[in-house]
Amino acid sequence: MNMNVNVKKLYIILTISLFVFPAFLTEAANYEYLNSVAGRGDTIVIYFKNNKSAIKSAAFGTQPISYFKYKKDYVAVFATSATQAVGKYSVKINFSDGTVFKKILAIKVLSTPKKIALGIPKKLDMTPASLVSNLRTQNAVLNNVFSATSTEIFFNSPFGLPLANNRNLGSLYGEIRQTGNEQIRHMGVDLIAPLGASVYAMNYGIISKVYYDPVYGNSILINHGHGIFTAYFHLNTTIIKQGDKVQKGAKIGTVGKTGYATGPHLHLSVKINGISVNPLKFISAFK
Ligand SMILES: [Zn+2]
Repeated sequence: MNMNVNVKKLYIILTISLFVFPAFLTEAANYEYLNSVAGRGDTIVIYFKNNKSAIKSAAFGTQPISYFKYKKDYVAVFATSATQAVGKYSVKINFSDGTVFKKILAIKVLSTPKKIALGIPKKLDMTPASLVSNLRTQNAVLNNVFSATSTEIFFNSPFGLPLANNRNLGSLYGEIRQTGNEQIRHMGVDLIAPLGASVYAMNYGIISKVYYDPVYGNSILINHGHGIFTAYFHLNTTIIKQGDKVQKGAKIGTVGKTGYATGPHLHLSVKINGISVNPLKFISAFK
C-alpha cells in the first residue's frame, strides 16, 4: 500500500519532469558568463553552450556586438567604455533558427578611477596643450587602424599576459592624469618591467601596424579579428613587421621607455569595436 503511493508519487514527479525539465535545461545550459551587472571598461563574453544555431545579429543597446565561433561555442563579445553611461541596457541576440536571447544588463560605477598629477618628461619638449593635440592626432590614426573589420577570427584560446613573471602594476586603466590645465584619461594599463624584457603577443593575430610616435613611442598593434585589437607602447625594440602573422606568446619586441614614459614599462591597450577596455579584466574574459 505504502509502496504504491510512493510509486505513484515518483510517476507524477517523472511526468512533471518530462514537461518541465527540457525547457529548463535549454535555458540553464544555453549560455554562460552574463551577470546582471557590469562596470565600466568591462569585456563581456557570453558563451552559448551546445548551441546548434549560429548567431545572425546582436546588439547591446545601440552598440555593436561581435559574434563568432570560439572553441566549440558561439560567443557574443562586447565592451563597456570608461565613460559608459550608467543605466539599464538590453542585450539582444538573434539566432538563425529564429530563437532570440534577450537580457537586461545594468551598468554601474563599480570603482572610481584615481586622479593623479603627472608632468611631461623634458625629452618630449611639449606643453600640456601640444601633448593633448598630439594625442588627438595619434588617436585618430589609431582609431583608423582599429576600425578595420575582419570577420575572420584569428584566435581559438584565451589571451595571455604580454610579459613573463617580471610584471608590476604602474598606472591603472581609467586613471585621470592632470597635466597642467589638461586632463588625460589613461586608457590602458602600465606594466612595469626591466628595460629590454621580452614582450609577447597576447594571442594569435596579424600585425596591423608597427611605428614610432612621439607620445606612444615604438608601438605595435595586433588585429585578433572581429574588432579585437591589442596595442603595445613605449617599446625599446620591435622585431616584427606589418602583415606578419604571430602566434600566441611569440616575442614581438622588448620593453622600453620611448615616447611619453618616465621609466621602462609596457603600456598595454585593448580595443573591442573601437572601445578601450580594462586589459587586465579582458584577459580573464575568454575562458
Ligand atoms: Zn600608460
